[in-house]
Amino acid sequence: MSAPEPRDVVILGSGPAGLTAAIYTARANLRPLVIEGEPSSTSDQPGGQLMLTTEVENYPGFVDGILGPELMGQFRAQAERFGAEFLASKAKRVELGRQPFAVWTDDTTDEPAVTARALIVATGARSLMLGVPGEDRLLGHGVSTCATCDGFFFREQSIGVVGGGDSAVEEALFLTRFATSVTLVHRRKELRASKIMQDRAFANPKIDFRWDSVVTELQGDQKLSGVVVSNVTTGASETLPLSGLFVAIGHKPSTDVFSGQLDMDEAGYIRTTAGTRTNLEGVFACGDAQDHVYRQAVTAAGSGCMAAIDVERWLEAQG
Ligand code: NAP
Repeated sequence: MSAPEPRDVVILGSGPAGLTAAIYTARANLRPLVIEGEPSSTSDQPGGQLMLTTEVENYPGFVDGILGPELMGQFRAQAERFGAEFLASKAKRVELGRQPFAVWTDDTTDEPAVTARALIVATGARSLMLGVPGEDRLLGHGVSTCATCDGFFFREQSIGVVGGGDSAVEEALFLTRFATSVTLVHRRKELRASKIMQDRAFANPKIDFRWDSVVTELQGDQKLSGVVVSNVTTGASETLPLSGLFVAIGHKPSTDVFSGQLDMDEAGYIRTTAGTRTNLEGVFACGDAQDHVYRQAVTAAGSGCMAAIDVERWLEAQG
């Protein structure tokens, strides 16, 4: 079998960053191919993290809010309208030390699935999850991984946060704006979060703590109604009557496939400079795969647009 004709641009990932890059590169006549993820996967599914949420109220342009999957459906349809093509698979191996770059979606074959002159990495990140019974079922129905996105839905309710790092404490503090009370469940008896964040949390009368505690089960049929918490030192168990639970135990960027080829920080986020450029000429990165600070659909979409413009200019400069 001979190698496929190189594409101008291949986009890896189909969340807000990847699909915005697809809209822009398609409109620039670069005929992008989007390797969109595996439909059967829960962590690498097409559409990214918004496929796991319900109502999105902070994406500009939707006065009454829009469901996460519906919003991603609109992004995809818009990219298709301008000629973007899609491959329902995942990059299992890449070779970036050659031109054109090569991407395999099945790492057992010799020939790559696709080659490209330019590559946009928009593989995103995923929230680490607890893996306890009820979590999958109630995600988006009381269980959330983003306080900025969902905090508003929990006005005047008793809710919880799991984790002891800066994210958990920041989310707990933010959520006190809406909730009546916020219970922070942490597996040890001291927080990992920075001192200043800890001081703020301890001083906030709406936040109480369950130390040395882990969540063992999430209860509720259609919506979260109770969180079973177990004390790791005493073994005692209690059910907290919470209607919301924010899981804030860290994120993992989906960048393993690029390790050793693209510069990353210690946590695996791709380093970018001068817009969306990576350490390799012709490879650009956008969205949560390179941003651990903002992590919003609108910022991811914005950086996807930047990557598309960077690619367009880079290809033009290459002639
Ligand atoms: P993190 O610092 O890795 O903290 C994760 C927390 O979750 C830890 O307290 C950890 O417990 C707990 N945890 C991990 N796995 C768990 C599990 N399976 N069950 C229960 N608990 C679990 O992650 P992060 O808070 O997302 O922060 C990531 C980075 O971003 C950090 O460098 C942080 O400083 C930075 N950040 C900064 C800010 C800010 O400056 N405003 C805000 C957010 C994040 P242990 O403590 O026992 O390990």
